[in-house]
Amino acid sequence: QCPWGAPNTTAISCSLADVMSEQLAKELQLEEENAAFPEVVAVAEGPFITGENTDTSSDLMLAQMLQMEFDREYDAQLRREEKKINGDSKVSISFENYRKVHPYDSDSSEDEVDWQDTRHDPYRADKPTTTPRRGFIGKGKDITTKHDEVVCGRKNTARMENFAPEFQVGDGIGMDLKLSNQVFNALKQHAYSEERRSARLHEKKEHSTAEKAVDPKTRLLLYKMVNAGMLETITGCISTGKESVVFHAYGGKSATEDKVIPPECAIKVFKTTLNEFKNRDKYIKDDYRFKDRFSKLNPRKIIRMWAEKEMHNLTRMQNAGIPCPQVVILKKHVLVMSFIGQDQVPAPKLKDVTLSSEDMKKAYYQILNMMQQLYNECNLVHADLSEYNMLWHDGKVWLIDVSQSVEPTHPHGLEFLFRDCRNVSQFFQKGGVAEALNERELFNAISGLNITADNEVDFQAEIEALEKMNEDHVQNHGKKLSMFSSDGDPPIYDE
Ligand code: ADP
Ligand code: MN
Repeated sequence: QCPWGAPNTTAISCSLADVMSEQLAKELQLEEENAAFPEVVAVAEGPFITGENTDTSSDLMLAQMLQMEFDREYDAQLRREEKKINGDSKVSISFENYRKVHPYDSDSSEDEVDWQDTRHDPYRADKPTTTPRRGFIGKGKDITTKHDEVVCGRKNTARMENFAPEFQVGDGIGMDLKLSNQVFNALKQHAYSEERRSARLHEKKEHSTAEKAVDPKTRLLLYKMVNAGMLETITGCISTGKESVVFHAYGGKSATEDKVIPPECAIKVFKTTLNEFKNRDKYIKDDYRFKDRFSKLNPRKIIRMWAEKEMHNLTRMQNAGIPCPQVVILKKHVLVMSFIGQDQVPAPKLKDVTLSSEDMKKAYYQILNMMQQLYNECNLVHADLSEYNMLWHDGKVWLIDVSQSVEPTHPHGLEFLFRDCRNVSQFFQKGGVAEALNERELFNAISGLNITADNEVDFQAEIEALEKMNEDHVQNHGKKLSMFSSDGDPPIYDE
């Protein structure tokens, strides 16, 4: 006998009809809501950065932008001050230590490895050029710009009051706050998107997975590209690799007339997590084009160098007429290029596509041709050539992923070439192309060398011996030797 008496087991009666009608009511409500607030994007993985609906939800990005802007202004002020104090005096003092934006750990514009300062392929590793500091360099008085900035900034701050009432603008209005146009526009955009957001009742997915794939600094960079109108929309992620993340974007308008931004772009973001790149050291450290610069660089710059390398290599290929993505712009570790594919669907990798035996044969000869062009005209070895880095599009093969490509005279260049040849010849031999050369024949055909070893081990040994000879020559003459190219010096490519 239970001391608290008999449990009351009378269950609340609930008829099937009730349950049904409750469900019906829910369904109806959902339907109604959907009609009233249609999803902005129908695609499963919606765009995460668009021109008109910039997701600044966490406010972090906005805060960063503001901070960046203020830091820059602070530094500019400091520079003016420094100039004023020093005047024409022979002894000058420097405020360098008080600057907010330091060249080594910042995103300041001087620090940017940009399309502008890397336009020339670094054949000889010369000193990196610095871009002039925006606005405040040059002779004469800097009063005019400052004046404009001040007036304009105050106006912007006042205009902020016009944002929607729910939008918190902080207590900045009471202060003599000067907002730059850039930041004002960002805030305005944010205010609008906030308005729209509050209208959307059942917004569940705040962050797409693509968004999580990049760090805030990179997001900021991507955001700036959209904000500048260069990109229309970044729709989502195409690929997440160990060393890079690739996004699809619709191209926008170019700032300059002569440059056309392709309607669809691929954005390759080189991952800034350093450990992933450790094993790639040997590609770039021994690349004489980057040799002098390597030792002086911090890890972040080394990652930018990968992006830079990919850009230069793509440009060389483009000049030789090899089907490959066209470079649009390079910003730090982010490379924007043309998209191979259509309507957001990337072209399939050669490993994923089933080709007719006719197309297979065609692809083989095309690749043979491309490898020769790459070697002779571009003076490059792909160094990661396989069915994974070749796309099938428009009835032909496109080469991608050339950040690790090196020149044939790289200390391991010929080994890399041999590995490429092995991948290619295995793929096509398995694919039933009877004409496919074996890896040794292919190697000789591409390099123009005549290594006669009839087995892999000896062949490899001869390759390494050749590489060593070249290295010794470099040691003795302090210069590279173009012994591998059949026609003298490697061509200089004017970009
Ligand atoms: P990773 O070093 O990660 O292999 P890739 O350059 O090979 O970098 O890019 C990864 C994937 O992204 C490719 O396999 C390809 O599917 C896709 N991709 C890269 N660049 C483009 C492009 N320009 N157009 C279309 N798809 C691309
Ligand atoms: Mn790849």
